[in-house]
Amino acid sequence: MSAVTTKLVKDCANNTDNLNISEQLKHKLKTHYSNNLYRSRLQFIKNQQPEQKGKLNFCSNDYLGFANNAEIIKKTQELLPILGTGSGASNLICGYHTIHQDLELLIANLVNCEQAILFPSGYMANLAIADVLLNLNTNTIAIHDHNNHASILDGSRLANCKMTRFAHNNTEHLNLLLNKYNNYNNKFIFTESLFSMDGDFAPLTEITNLLNDNSVLIIDESHAFGVYGNNGQGLAHQKTNTKKNKLIMGTFGKALGSAGAFVAGPKLFIESLIQFARTYIYTTALSPIATMASLEAIKLNFQRPEYREKLFDNIHYFCLNLEKTGFSSPALVSPIQPIIIGDSKTCIKAADFLNRHGIIVTAVRAPTVAKNKARIRITLSAKHNINQIDHLLNTLKKLKTEILNSSI
Ligand code: PLP
Repeated sequence: MSAVTTKLVKDCANNTDNLNISEQLKHKLKTHYSNNLYRSRLQFIKNQQPEQKGKLNFCSNDYLGFANNAEIIKKTQELLPILGTGSGASNLICGYHTIHQDLELLIANLVNCEQAILFPSGYMANLAIADVLLNLNTNTIAIHDHNNHASILDGSRLANCKMTRFAHNNTEHLNLLLNKYNNYNNKFIFTESLFSMDGDFAPLTEITNLLNDNSVLIIDESHAFGVYGNNGQGLAHQKTNTKKNKLIMGTFGKALGSAGAFVAGPKLFIESLIQFARTYIYTTALSPIATMASLEAIKLNFQRPEYREKLFDNIHYFCLNLEKTGFSSPALVSPIQPIIIGDSKTCIKAADFLNRHGIIVTAVRAPTVAKNKARIRITLSAKHNINQIDHLLNTLKKLKTEILNSSI
């Protein structure tokens, strides 16, 4: 924590009565700090490189190493003078460029949907889906997997509809809720395909089997897009046999190493997003440079399966050896490998220990995950080499024997 933050936290120690606005904020921060939930931002020097200030980065979502890929940078640089740095306006004024349409067409084709639309971020894409679909009619229900990302949940919280959650990946519970709320005209089911904090997979085929004419499935492929499926198309296409009542959302800020997001689905739905989504209409369109970088990243992923192969080699190597560290492996073939610690205080201690031993990871705590499920979220990338993964594994072993065993 910086000196300024330490002072702020100290200053607010005694102010609890008759609070003015500043004092209320200080009090809130203090409570947050005492609950071991205070976050500080790491300052990176070389964008998402595996080594940062002599430490190894094992917490980035740059799964394929595309954020610093020389070929993508070169192609994007070449077109920079033509594209310019900014889109200049919102999409419905004059911010929609040919490069946006090129990427939309490429994505619609890749994920096998009729049409796609781009957003400046995945958060905005998720808000847009909820804004347009959940406010269609008041007889609407949003049914979420319990572990859905905040951006998926927030859209439903803001919408004028009933919202409920099914137990994580539990299709029996989902079916129960669908029957219970059968009186709702419009039913929207939301899930991630690869869960961001658990690294596990949604039972997409089983969920799809529960759909009918009045229900739509929305799949957030943020962490799977670029990594899984043919040419990185994600998991939704392979695991769902419906086209008409399915929307796919994905981000460019993770495996593609860029920024922005897409929603793909039936033409009718995408046209409705263009016309009605407030996070599409009332914001400057996605930067042409980020769009270009995403387009080049998708093309590179087509041409060079070796990036994905390297990532999966690293995942297999890590999973194969994790048990030797004393932590049990969830054996997920996933770039996201959570080490569940439990309480927030021990989790911070564990992250600090790894940091002191040259490993950058973050302690993921409530409200991102359940209160008693604080975790070290390790992410693997194609850019890691075996020596670096060995260093991580050896340090995890030390963490288990020197810190965790003594604190339990
Ligand atoms: N959905 C999921 C599952 C995510 O993990 C994230 C990012 O953390 C988002 C959506 C938001 O995407 P973006 O970072 O592009 O806003």
